[in-house]
Amino acid sequence: MRIIQLGVFISLLIAIGLNTTVEGAGPSRLYNLAIEYYDSRVHWQFIRDFVFVKFLWYQFTRSWDLIMGYGVIGAVKFLYDRVVHLAVTQFMALPSIKTKVDNEVLAITTKLESDMIPSSDELTYYHELPRQGWTSEAVLEQLHSLETLKHSNWEKGRVSGAVYHGGEDLLELQAKAYNLFGVANQLHPDVFPGVRKMESEIVSMVLKLYNAPTGACGTSTSGGTESLLLACLSAKKHAFETRGVTDPEIVAPITVHAGFDKAAYYFGIKLHHAPIDPITYQVDILHVKRLINANTVLLVGSAPNFPHGIIDDIPALGALAQRHNIPLHVDACLGSFIMPFLEPAGLTSALFDFRVPGVTSVSCDTHKYGFAPKGSSVIMYRNQLLRASQYFVCTKWSGGIYGSPTLAGSRPGALMAGCWATMMTIGYEGYLASCLEIVGAAQRLKAAIRDEIGPHLQVLGDPIGAVIAFKSDTVNIYDLADSMKKLGWHLSALQKPAAIHVAVTKLTVPVIDDLIRDLKDSVNGLVGQDGRGSAPAKEGTAALYGVAGSVKTAGVADRLAVAFLDNLYKLPKN
Ligand SMILES: *Cc1c(COP(=O)(O)O)cnc(C)c1O
Repeated sequence: MRIIQLGVFISLLIAIGLNTTVEGAGPSRLYNLAIEYYDSRVHWQFIRDFVFVKFLWYQFTRSWDLIMGYGVIGAVKFLYDRVVHLAVTQFMALPSIKTKVDNEVLAITTKLESDMIPSSDELTYYHELPRQGWTSEAVLEQLHSLETLKHSNWEKGRVSGAVYHGGEDLLELQAKAYNLFGVANQLHPDVFPGVRKMESEIVSMVLKLYNAPTGACGTSTSGGTESLLLACLSAKKHAFETRGVTDPEIVAPITVHAGFDKAAYYFGIKLHHAPIDPITYQVDILHVKRLINANTVLLVGSAPNFPHGIIDDIPALGALAQRHNIPLHVDACLGSFIMPFLEPAGLTSALFDFRVPGVTSVSCDTHKYGFAPKGSSVIMYRNQLLRASQYFVCTKWSGGIYGSPTLAGSRPGALMAGCWATMMTIGYEGYLASCLEIVGAAQRLKAAIRDEIGPHLQVLGDPIGAVIAFKSDTVNIYDLADSMKKLGWHLSALQKPAAIHVAVTKLTVPVIDDLIRDLKDSVNGLVGQDGRGSAPAKEGTAALYGVAGSVKTAGVADRLAVAFLDNLYKLPKN
């Protein structure tokens, strides 16, 4: 790809040179140009020219990739957006505007804070260590009262995602597994050989579910985000070592999990977001193709994505990846133990795993539909070379030769035991049954939104799994989320477009008809007497991930998110 760019670049340089007053025609003109250039320079000027040409080359390839990836109009819009952003930032910094915005932010953050943090009238807060340790009875009593503090009633299945199983027997088994392996650490396989065995068995079982070929491998991680971080890290390192790429770029759908943005931010990778098809909500393959350039180290597809539960066209992405000889990651963090069971369960399915040529890595969260305790996921690779690219090795440390397969150093062996125990007790048939049950309920919800709740809600694309997203052209979808919240339902609010989704879990299955009924009633309540609806949600209002209800976020979204994070660590004074 760079060859064509180089050709154009050199031609341009020569064309500029020939525009000067050199004599001659055809090749001799070129020769005269070279001689004239050589004669007109002293030594250090060659170095200066070299540096200058290198700078031009850098700018030239950057602009080329930008225009190829986004088109001329897209590139202009890209620059325009930057200028607008700069102007808005300057404008918001004007003293009178700033005070107004600050007050608005303060009002929202105060509300956020009072929603999130019970006051010291309700609870006693402990700001420092108790001088004398408590008795275990006292500790347990506190723990029990803290457990009843919950806001949303997940046990009744009224929360989208978040808790995936929650069955009493399973929780008890997991607690026993924890108990047995409370001190275990995967960093020391010599001390805890049983944990090593369980981890490699978990990886092997998940590889098998994803039809991995011989030679495929993986590691366990602390969760989906870590799996994604490692997939990006591996791709970056692999491209550097095999192709010498120093300015790595990733091409992913706009709907991909924010963990990829996090990876790009952490590891200094440029992330391109490819738009989605407005009908299917799958990533637009032509756009992905246009965004590929000589710096691309990884393509990404989701199976399914978090916002809409849509599975990207993985075979098409695989073909692209092969043609350009780039790795392809499939994010099946959410698909986890649902996707591999769709086909065996006789449900509508799609190709998404290692059977698709070109797929080089897959992430699968055991802590979602695998029902393992929170804090576990698996990252899989087609070959050991790719896995080794995520490893960290330090041979010079005075603490000894150090090697670590994933991001963490010490890793809780108890979580491995909990995950292993879960997978062994549920087994293939158990997961098959839960897939049928969960996807059956999700599809019932999808059909009800389309056929029973009527024209006011629109399902986004055609989700075939456990997540159903819907928007409204007539009522404010965030108001719908708010009325559902009053009925005890904790649904996830999405943006761009404004929508909400339900990730159906094992706990939602028995209450799916209640959910449909409450949705219907809430929509009717918002539509009012005339049946025309109020107005759809405006862009620029959105909910923070994990917090129900909507707030006006235009221009201040980042400040609200930071305030939310700060709240996580606030302790009211007693
Ligand atoms: C949940 C999820 C992840 C990872 O999230 P964690 O919270 O880190 O487990 C990644 N991708 C998708 C599509 C997800 O739904």
